[in-house]
Amino acid sequence: MFTRKEFLQYIALLAGGAYAAGCRTPGAYDHIGGSILGASAAAGHQLRDGLSVSPQKTIRTGVLIAGGGVAGLSAARKLRLSGKTDFLLAELEPQTGGNSLSGGNSITNFPFGAHYLPLPNPENTALMDFLTEAGLLKGFDKGLPVYDELSLVYEPAERLYRKGRWQEGIIPQVGLSPQEHDEMKRFLALMQTFRDAKDSSGRHAFDIPAALSSRDPQFLSLDALTMEAWLQREGFRSEPLRWYVDYCCRDDYGAGIKTVSAWAGIHYFAARRGKAANADASAVLTWPEGNGRLVQHLRRHSHNQTLTGTIVYRVQTEGNTVLADCWNYQTREAMRIVADHCILAMPQFIGRRILGETPGPQFTYAPWLVANVHLRELPVDKNLPVCWDNVIYGQQSLGYIYAQHQTTDRRPAKSHVITLYWPLDQLEPADSRRKALQLQHRDWVELCMAQLEQGHPHIAKLVTAVDCWIWGHGMIRPIPGFMTTEIPGTPPRVHFAHSDLSGISIFEEAFYQGESAAMRCLG
Ligand SMILES: Cc1cc2nc3c(=O)[nH]c(=O)nc-3n(C[C@H](O)[C@H](O)[C@H](O)COP(=O)(O)OP(=O)(O)OC[C@H]3O[C@@H](n4cnc5c(N)ncnc54)[C@H](O)[C@@H]3O)c2cc1C
Repeated sequence: MFTRKEFLQYIALLAGGAYAAGCRTPGAYDHIGGSILGASAAAGHQLRDGLSVSPQKTIRTGVLIAGGGVAGLSAARKLRLSGKTDFLLAELEPQTGGNSLSGGNSITNFPFGAHYLPLPNPENTALMDFLTEAGLLKGFDKGLPVYDELSLVYEPAERLYRKGRWQEGIIPQVGLSPQEHDEMKRFLALMQTFRDAKDSSGRHAFDIPAALSSRDPQFLSLDALTMEAWLQREGFRSEPLRWYVDYCCRDDYGAGIKTVSAWAGIHYFAARRGKAANADASAVLTWPEGNGRLVQHLRRHSHNQTLTGTIVYRVQTEGNTVLADCWNYQTREAMRIVADHCILAMPQFIGRRILGETPGPQFTYAPWLVANVHLRELPVDKNLPVCWDNVIYGQQSLGYIYAQHQTTDRRPAKSHVITLYWPLDQLEPADSRRKALQLQHRDWVELCMAQLEQGHPHIAKLVTAVDCWIWGHGMIRPIPGFMTTEIPGTPPRVHFAHSDLSGISIFEEAFYQGESAAMRCLG
C-alpha cells in the first residue's frame, strides 16, 4: 500500500492540471456507477509467486500454443490452414483475445483494448488473405483492395479540441503561427521521405512487419537515440509539433518521445503504405467492438481446441518432446501437456520465467487504463459533432473513441458508450502499474471525468457508469536499443510468438509473430 501523500501525488501526476484545478462540486459524481474490470491479475500473480502443483493427468498433442492473444490465435489459424490440426491452445483468461478483448451491452459492443487496424501494406498478403477470409476485404479493383464499407471508419473520423474549439483531424492546424505551420509541413515532408526510402537491397527503410525493415546502419542508427533527441537534432522545436509526435508515440507505444527510440518514433509515420480502391490511404478498419471483431474471426480456427482459465506455468524439453505443466484455476486441476512443439504466445516477461530464464532488459511494458464511459446522451458540441476519435490537446489521456460511430442505424440510440484511452506513463512502468492497481473505482471516475470535462464541461450529468480496465503490461515499449539488441534463443522445439518480439504492439505484428512461430513448428 502507498501512503496518503504518495496517493495524492500520484493522482495529481495522472491528472496534470485537470484535477489540480479542483473546481468540482462535492458529490458531483456520486450517481456514476461501474466497476474496475481487468485481466486476471490474481491468476498472473500466482504464476509470478511460483506455482508448483503435481500434474494429475497427461495430455498428448502435436503443438501446444500457450497464450490466446492475437499472436496465439494467428498461430492456431496458420497451423489449421496448413493441415496441422493436432494442436491445443491454453489461455490464462476465461476467454481468448488478450489485449484485443471487447465487451458489450444491449445497445452496443465496445473495446476493452485494441480498437483499429490501419490499411495493410500492399506486400502484407498474409494479412490481406485473413481479411478476405473474414469477409472484410471484398476483392481488388485495378490492383487496389476493396474493403468492406461497414468496416472502414466513417467520416468525420477524428477531431481535436484545442484553443477552446473542435477542429477536424488530430494534427493541430487551427491557430498555428507561420513558424509552427512551417515546422509541421517540414516534419510531414520528412516523414514522407522516410516512407519512400529503401536501402541498396530494395528493402523499405521502415516496414510492417518491423522485421522486414532495412538493417542498413543509416536507418538503424536511429535506434540509438530517443525521438525527443532526434527532434531536437533536426531543429523541430515547436510546441504543437512536439505535442503531436508525443501523442502518436503514446498512442502506439504507451510511451512518449522522451522514452521511445527515434527509430520507433519515425516508424509510426513512415512504415504505413496501405491503399484502398474505396478509401483514403489514411483510413482505418474499425468496428464497435474494435479489434474484438478480428479476434472473433481468428477464434474460429481453435475454438474446439482451447483450454481457457489455464495457466501454463512451466515448460521444459526432454528429448524430442516439450513438457508443459498447466494449472486450471477454475477446475483446480493440474495437467502435463506433452507436445512435439510449444509456442509461447505470451510476453517475454512471462515466457522467460516459465522457461526458468530472465527476460532481456529491453523488455519493458507500458501500463494503460481503458475506461468505457456509459452515457444517457452524447455531449453536443457547437462546431463539430462527436467523431470516431476525439482528442483533447495537451491531456494526460489520449481522448476517447465513440464505438457507435460505426453503426448504420439512423434511429437515435437509447444510450451511448465512449472509450477513454490513457497510457499510464507518468512514472516508470513498475511504479505506475503498482500504484494504478491500488486506486479505487471512485478515484478513476474522478480522474476520467476531469479529463473529459476539459472538452465537455457538463458531461458528468450525462454519465451513468464508468467501467475501468487496467492493462498492467499493456504494450512493449520500443526504447532505444530495442531494435539492435538480439533476443536470446529458445530451447529446441520451443518458439516465442508475441507482438513484444517486434518492439511494436500492433495487430499486424502479433499476427506476423503467430504465423512465423507456426511455420517454425511446421518446419
Ligand atoms: C490499451 C491498448 C490499446 C491498443 N490498441 C491497439 C489498436 O488500436 N490497434 C492495434 O493494432 N493494436 C493495439 N494494441 C496492441 C495490442 O496489444 C495488439 O494489437 C495485440 O492484441 C497483441 O496481441 P499478442 O498476442 O501479441 O499479445 P497479448 O494480447 O498480450 O496476448 C497474450 C496472451 O497470453 C495469455 N497468457 C499470458 N501468460 C499466460 C500463461 N502463463 N499461460 C496461458 N496464457 C497466458 C494472456 O492472457 C493473453 O491472452 C493495444 C494495446 C492496448 C493495451
